[in-house]
Amino acid sequence: MGAVPSHDVLIIGAGLAGQRAALAAAQTGATVAITSKVHPVRSHSVAAAGGINAALNPEDSWESHAYDTVKGSDYLGDQDAIEIMCREAPDEILWLEHAGVTFHRDATGHLGTRAFGGASAARTYYVADITGHALLHVLYEQLMKHSHQVDRYEEWFTTDLLQDDEGRCNGAVCRNLRDGKVEVFNAKAVILACGGAGQAYKPTTNGLIVTGDGIAQAYRIGAKLMDMEMIQYHPTTLAGNGLLITEGARGEGAWLLNAKGERFMEKYAPNKLELASRDVVSRAEQTEINEGNGFPDGTVALDITKVPRRRTLEALREIVNIGRDFAGVDITREPIHIHPGQHYIMGGVKTDVDGQTTIPGLYAAGEVACVSVHGGNRLGANSLLDTLIFGRRSGEHAAQQASQMEMPTTPASRAADTEQRIREIINRPSGGRRVSAIKDELGETMNKYVAVFRDAEGLEQAHEIIRRLKEEAPHAAIDDRGSVFNQDVIGAIELGYMLDCAEATVVGAIERKESRGAQFRTDFPTRNDDEWLKHIDISVNGADVPSISYSEVTITKWEPQERTY
Ligand SMILES: Cc1cc2nc3c(=O)[nH]c(=O)nc-3n(C[C@H](O)[C@H](O)[C@H](O)COP(=O)(O)OP(=O)(O)OC[C@H]3O[C@@H](n4cnc5c(N)ncnc54)[C@H](O)[C@@H]3O)c2cc1C
Repeated sequence: MGAVPSHDVLIIGAGLAGQRAALAAAQTGATVAITSKVHPVRSHSVAAAGGINAALNPEDSWESHAYDTVKGSDYLGDQDAIEIMCREAPDEILWLEHAGVTFHRDATGHLGTRAFGGASAARTYYVADITGHALLHVLYEQLMKHSHQVDRYEEWFTTDLLQDDEGRCNGAVCRNLRDGKVEVFNAKAVILACGGAGQAYKPTTNGLIVTGDGIAQAYRIGAKLMDMEMIQYHPTTLAGNGLLITEGARGEGAWLLNAKGERFMEKYAPNKLELASRDVVSRAEQTEINEGNGFPDGTVALDITKVPRRRTLEALREIVNIGRDFAGVDITREPIHIHPGQHYIMGGVKTDVDGQTTIPGLYAAGEVACVSVHGGNRLGANSLLDTLIFGRRSGEHAAQQASQMEMPTTPASRAADTEQRIREIINRPSGGRRVSAIKDELGETMNKYVAVFRDAEGLEQAHEIIRRLKEEAPHAAIDDRGSVFNQDVIGAIELGYMLDCAEATVVGAIERKESRGAQFRTDFPTRNDDEWLKHIDISVNGADVPSISYSEVTITKWEPQERTY
């Protein structure tokens, strides 16, 4: 058995949060390992389309950005964290631009912006509708400059987090997907940057790799999760396959119409119309559909023909392709049918503003984390910002802490439990229910009962189904018993992570007996600040049962008000 790879900082995940954390840690002089279950530039951040927010224009202000974010969060966001994110945003955009991101420039040659939902100024910076792709590739290039300090473990799957006798996180167990070898990684600090858990829903805008691994791994070693009930349904996803039509379309001027041709947002958000925040627009669409004003395929229409054709072809070219290839529609000439679809999780591993979780030595940043800047509802284009600001801050803090510590010595034998678990999966008898069948039932259950509108009966039903699926999952059959790129084994492990995330979401949604942000309870249809202006924290107790506690929402400047758009 070779030496255990040892680094100051181990980063799990190489999307925007992970790569930004790696760069920041390396720049302070730390040695870094960054792992990813796919090649880093295939991380889900690559799909981000519409842009990234910052109050960079002289007429705009970080306070305005922060207020919009607080209001968008339905006052559940922690205002200290929101202030930091919005204050640091302009410098981050300039840093990215200087690093090589080819942000759109307007006719005057300045960085150009587009409008996004819930924002009182057009403050979304973008690269056509491939912003995530542009950012991710630039970070990957920048990280290469630090190759003497940063070891990249591409296509390595992390299965477990490790702790020392005092409970400090000191490494992880990872499987090399190319040959199936399992290794222990030893580190002074570990940063989770594993992204969200959208695949617990079906359909979702999220790629197949977004399976809640980091959230479940942290939860299993006792970390607190927060705001897990807050699941964002994006207003414009394609029926059937869940593909996203970016909010950039509405930012450029597209309208929403019901089957009668009415611009229904006039009823629900007379001031902001299509650019109200996502929870408001999704609820409006679902109400129209439920009241019989939608199309027979359970959709309403997004009319992008309102945007000049030339502009659509220049600034929204990916969704032109998506419309043509996946719906057979030329969006420059006719409306496209859309409906609300699962897109993002506002909750995640509870952290402070430096990314520290409730487990010493363990950090989290990006969609895996809940710091909480999005509270009950994330504003479009604030997630990329969140990944970068808190990725950087986590990387810096972890590296600084690591500089004062001795390297732990985690023995290679700590991989034994994982190896045994994988052997058990490979040796499962053939036949029986397949991983994919259990995953489908989970996704459809979540989409039916834990969606735009929820009630106690449906949530209890969902919880019962999840508990049954948790019993079935350890026996789910796989076909591939080999060691080279065995995605069957990975799928079986990921299923367990998704079930943990889904259970935490449902338990949180049952607990929160009010409507706030993305959680609309038809049995408790109003916001109740007296009882519920608080975070729901979830951790696991010894018997694999989620237990609930509460934490305060940090309010700095903005007292809760009625929220209208
Ligand atoms: C279609 C789409 C469009 C979007 N557009 C925008 C937008 O325009 N603006 C905006 O602000 N937000 C947007 N978002 C949201 C935003 O893209 C994501 O929230 C954000 O990119 C998440 O970044 P991340 O770094 O946290 O995670 P990810 O980019 O998902 O990266 C996760 C990383 O973790 C790795 N990983 C996961 N599990 C493991 C494991 N077990 N072992 C090893 N590695 C692992 C993955 O390989 C990957 O490298 C969009 C989302 C979608 C789905």
